[in-house]
Amino acid sequence: MTDGFATRAIHAGQTPDPVTGSIVPPIHQTSTFLQDGVGNLREGYEYGRSGNPTRTALEVQVAALELGAHASAFASGLAAEDALLRAVLAPGDRVVLGDDAYGGTHRLLARIHVPAGIVLDTVDLTDEAAVTEAFSTPVQLLWLETPTNPLMKIVDIEALAARAHAAGATVVVDNTFASPALQQPLTLGADVVVHSATKYLGGHSDVIGGVVVTSDDRIAEQVAFLQFAAGAVLAPMEAFLLTRGIKTLAVRMRQHSANATAIAEQLLAHPSIERVFYPGLPDHPGHEVAARQMRGFGGMVSVAVRGGRAEALRLAEGTRLFSLAESLGGVESLIGHPDSMTHASVRGTPLAVPENVVRFSVGIEELDDLQADIAEALDRI
Ligand SMILES: *Cc1c(COP(=O)(O)O)cnc(C)c1O
Repeated sequence: MTDGFATRAIHAGQTPDPVTGSIVPPIHQTSTFLQDGVGNLREGYEYGRSGNPTRTALEVQVAALELGAHASAFASGLAAEDALLRAVLAPGDRVVLGDDAYGGTHRLLARIHVPAGIVLDTVDLTDEAAVTEAFSTPVQLLWLETPTNPLMKIVDIEALAARAHAAGATVVVDNTFASPALQQPLTLGADVVVHSATKYLGGHSDVIGGVVVTSDDRIAEQVAFLQFAAGAVLAPMEAFLLTRGIKTLAVRMRQHSANATAIAEQLLAHPSIERVFYPGLPDHPGHEVAARQMRGFGGMVSVAVRGGRAEALRLAEGTRLFSLAESLGGVESLIGHPDSMTHASVRGTPLAVPENVVRFSVGIEELDDLQADIAEALDRI
């Protein structure tokens, strides 16, 4: 029987050290490994780029959380994405990307993979006609996020994966926003999951990392080869920090979701807020699908502020506990203005974000304090 999620988060890959009994496996801060004779390796480890036990511990842990067979950890989320794209694509292949995808993913595809011969189409994956049209020409890869960043659109993973598979495409889900605590795309038909582990997996805003998870042996082998051959590996200390953060993922995501739900309702009731984007709200167009495929609606909330850019900037610059910063998913609350920060690189493209949108990464501080902070900032815009 498979252990439950929170149990896997704490125990998968985390065997106590057989030599000393250290409950927490040691951090193997080393570049190379002793050979007892030429090619005679103790545990298969030879050199730190090809493998490191601390990195393996993280890879086993994340694979267990996503219910995948294999995981490879990289120096950043984008390094993980790049390795995956190289692993699965050949020149001439066509990629369909959700139109509300992470700006860096769009930049990676548009500026690095398109010049290398990949064809890229961005599509609103919540628009039935657009999806039908997108699958009417051959497609090799479907790349989706749900909830999306920053407009929190919800994509039905199971339905989209089935259509993509019928068209012969590989399905990748960027599961950074939900984390495996809330959603496990491989169980819904996705072929591959990618993470910016920098966000909820790490959870403490102190590490940059990325992970590719899949149960497809061929893709896993290619990704592992690129990890070794191109070398964008995750360092041992970062692997340790991620492993440590992940142990509290289940309890953190419960609190992120609870705080964000209350804050979404608070924002909805405020006259300075034109619209709230949060899949936990019953009138969110993706609410039903989210309720079906997620176990909680997550910690990300976006709003459209009444007025325009100036009002949005005043809100983003006006909070005390919500720090103005890029990134998300840490225990501490953050606030940002996507059009001038995280999504500046997609301005003028189909992925551009309206300039009155403000994004909250709701942390796990005391809810009353967070709500008072938001109320004060709103009163000042
Ligand atoms: C941050 C982020 C990435 C990129 O990850 P890095 O660790 O910054 O390289 C990819 N996808 C999503 C959804 C993200 O939020």
